[in-house]
Parts: sequence; structure tokens; C-alpha cells
Amino acid sequence: MLKITNWSKSYKDNQVLQNINFEIKTGDVLSIIGSSGSGKSTLLRSINFLEPADKGIIQFDNEEFDVETITKKDILSIRKKTAMVFQNYALFSRKTALENVTEALTQVQKMSNSEAKRQAEKFLKLVGMEERMDYYPSQLSGGQQQRVGIARALAIEPDVILFDEPTSALDPEMVSGILDLIQQIAHQKTTLILVTHEMKFAKQVSDQVLFIDQGTILESGSADEIFNHPKHERTKQFINVFN
Ligand code: ATP
Ligand code: MG
Repeated sequence: MLKITNWSKSYKDNQVLQNINFEIKTGDVLSIIGSSGSGKSTLLRSINFLEPADKGIIQFDNEEFDVETITKKDILSIRKKTAMVFQNYALFSRKTALENVTEALTQVQKMSNSEAKRQAEKFLKLVGMEERMDYYPSQLSGGQQQRVGIARALAIEPDVILFDEPTSALDPEMVSGILDLIQQIAHQKTTLILVTHEMKFAKQVSDQVLFIDQGTILESGSADEIFNHPKHERTKQFINVFN
């Protein structure tokens, strides 16, 4: 399980996240929806301490960390449990697909080179990139680059994968292949947190949905509750835009 309690973050006097609380069971899919600038990316980035929150508690099963007193060592252990997949893929342009995946394995997971190569090949095959492992990002389509981004996240075998709008930079014909891949991952034991504007997909894949508005959770519930029976006027308006 992953639990976030009293989670808040400001950039100077701009309070971007205010008292966020939620809990996800292991293996569940949580989707986060909300307008541009509502704090979705900031929330994801704070969960793996790319941009730490100012206040709050994060709990992984029976390990609890207070962001105000967490040690560097504990942050590193959280990074090993969480992997991010970015909207713009965020691959190293001077590394091949294979090297992009082995990098985190040798640097963060401290695997040997040969072990990392074996692991990277296994996950690049899984995402359908076995024939392009030696290509550089510039030689790959957006969809192929995102497959590498997903292989990189899967290869560290994290407890939680954080997807930040993984399909929003893709050409429309590339989107469904990536959503199919995410759906496959969703059926496994990994917990997924997904920021997305793909409402149909979120409705289909999510166990829980958070609607974030101006840095607070305005409404949360099952996919059926949020998409078919939203309570708040703001949620209704937001969902209607996509219908
Ligand atoms: P989008 O749907 O457009 O991706 P979002 O919901 O992901 O939006 P965030 O990127 O989390 O929104 O941004 C929330 C707020 O935090 C915005 O007002 C933004 O300007 C501010 N913000 C985000 N990152 C920083 C930063 N590094 N420094 C200062 N302000 C930031
Ligand atoms: Mg964002």
C-alpha cells in the first residue's frame, strides 16, 4: 500500500498542493485528473522526491516517512521503489535505447554491467523494442521512445510506477499502443499512478480516481463514481469537456 497524508507544497508564495490525502492498495491503479496547472505533475514528482513536498507523511506498507525529517538514505530507498514515466520521454539523447535502460540499473540499483544488460534486454523485449535496442532516441518515433521510457521504469522492478501524461506528446496513431501496454502493466502486481487526459482510458483502467483542483483533491472515488456520478459542479464541468 501507498499512503499520502497531509501532503503540501509551495513554490515561494504559490501553494501548489494543499493537504493532499489518499491511499492506494498494492496493485491498484489510481488516476489523477484535473486542469492544467492544478498540481498533478507536482504531486507525482513529490512522491518520488524529484521535487520534495514541504509537509506530509508518505507510507509504503509499514514504512512511514515524514518529509520534514526524511534522510537522504530513505529518499534513495523510495527512488528504488518508484519509477517515473514522463510526457516527453526524458531519454538521454546520447545513449541508445539499451543504454537508457541500463543506466538506472547500474547507477541506482547498483547492478553489474552484464546483469543490467540482461535485465534491460528482457524489458525492452517486453515492450516490443527488441529490434531497436541499439537505436538512439532521435532514430525512434515518439511511441517507440515512450516504450523505452516504460521499459526503463519496469526494469527497476518498482513497487509503484508514476506515469505523467505518458501519451499526450504522441501522434494520435501511437496512443493506443502505449495505452495497451499500460493496461498490460495494470494487470500485474505493480501499483500505478497515472496522470492523464485520456478520460475513456482512465474510466476503464482505474480502481480509484482523484480530481484535483487548485492543489486540493476536490473529489475522489471509484471510476464509476467520478465519471458517471460526479458530485461537485467543478468535476461535472471538467468531465463534460471530454465527453
Ligand atoms: P499540466 O496539466 O499543464 O501538466 P499540472 O496539473 O501538472 O499541469 P503542475 O505542473 O504541477 O500542474 O503545476 C502546478 C503549479 O505549480 C503551476 O502553477 C506551476 O506554475 C507551478 N510550478 C510547477 N513547477 C514549478 C517550479 N519548478 N517552480 C515554480 N513553480 C512551479
Ligand atoms: Mg503536468
